[in-house]
Amino acid sequence: MKKYLFSIILVISVTVVSAQKTYILCGKLVDTKTGKIEKRRTIVVEGEKIIRILKGYVQPKSRIDKVINLKDKVVMPGLIDMHVHLEMEYDSKTRIKKYILNEADVAYNSINFAKETLLSGFTTVRDLGGSGVNVSLRNAINAGKLVGPRIFTAEKSLATTGGHADPTNGSSRKLIGDPGPKEGIVNSVEDARKAVRQRYKNGADVIKITATGGVLSVAKSGDNPQFTIEEIKAICDTAKDYGMHVAAHAHGDAGMQRAVIGGVKTIEHGTYMSDKTMDLMIKYDAYLVPTISAGKEVAEKAKIKGFYPSIVVPKALAVGPQIQGTFAKAYKRGVGIAFGTDAGVFTHGANGKEFGYMVEAGMPAIETIQSATVTNAKILLMSTEIGQIKAGFFADIIAVNDDPTKNIKTLENVVFVMKEGKVYKK
Ligand SMILES: [Zn+2]
Repeated sequence: MKKYLFSIILVISVTVVSAQKTYILCGKLVDTKTGKIEKRRTIVVEGEKIIRILKGYVQPKSRIDKVINLKDKVVMPGLIDMHVHLEMEYDSKTRIKKYILNEADVAYNSINFAKETLLSGFTTVRDLGGSGVNVSLRNAINAGKLVGPRIFTAEKSLATTGGHADPTNGSSRKLIGDPGPKEGIVNSVEDARKAVRQRYKNGADVIKITATGGVLSVAKSGDNPQFTIEEIKAICDTAKDYGMHVAAHAHGDAGMQRAVIGGVKTIEHGTYMSDKTMDLMIKYDAYLVPTISAGKEVAEKAKIKGFYPSIVVPKALAVGPQIQGTFAKAYKRGVGIAFGTDAGVFTHGANGKEFGYMVEAGMPAIETIQSATVTNAKILLMSTEIGQIKAGFFADIIAVNDDPTKNIKTLENVVFVMKEGKVYKK
């Protein structure tokens, strides 16, 4: 009798402890660490984590567990885009919008952009600059109130007066004001420190600077250097104090060199990068975020009369077509590549096109996938949590119809999305 009672207690306690698991049957599974594609695997998910990878198709023993059949799909970890702007999607009215939209309007717009991003297979993104609504967006997603990717946000980009991310660029004198470090405008080493600390206070995870001119700002130069090296060093050193890395938008070579020497972790776009700067990037362990998609988009849209302000058009036509070629050269030379698109300059959810552009430029398909997973996870200091399908990692899992090493375009059509163990698309 005593023995019988004991076993009843044991059964009850086992039932209480064991939570529901999900068994995902994968026809093929991309191992982003080794670059190999495994056949017939079962991923076991419990809560928000992957707990086991089993060989073959394994059915659960417990009736409470669920099975997801992806036997005819190729399964891989959720993708990471290092350069998006979830607050906006550029169109011919963008210039006016900053004067007519309120924060709440921007917030409502961003809800759909975040959702589209996640449903296209990007389970983590770095938001490289908006008005600060992106911090609230991140918080709402983390709290489970909205559907979207895991966000690392720069809040508001840092620029110098009249620089690429000066929010009053191109405004009438009446509206131009004199924004300072609080608004992200830096004109000295002191400003640099304060601007970074202000971003930290506002809830940023990462710092973004506009190290050179840019295409879409209402300003003449798309490539001139816009910070002194002392300012960049002060930004990078201060960011380090708060556990943040620095991303630098850069088209021109001089500003790019200052950024790399100053200590930034990623160069965004990299359009006119010289061989010397490529070697510096290797030396300083900095990564190129190519954003070829944005280059193609601006070159294309610049041909439509009136789409961009006239001061933007020549910059878009000059910079846009260069980006893919620079990426090809940098990759060949051995510069680390961190997948990133600049979504927001083009339609959110079309991020997957970048893979095809990278392959077209000479990077093997599997390496483009590794760039969007393991490499980006490393830069975000999340190497043991995201970017691989492995026990102990977040259950950020996606699937496509074809083997992407044979058909890279399949990544433009992600058919299954799970983030932190929850299914968002199937
Ligand atoms: Zn950008």
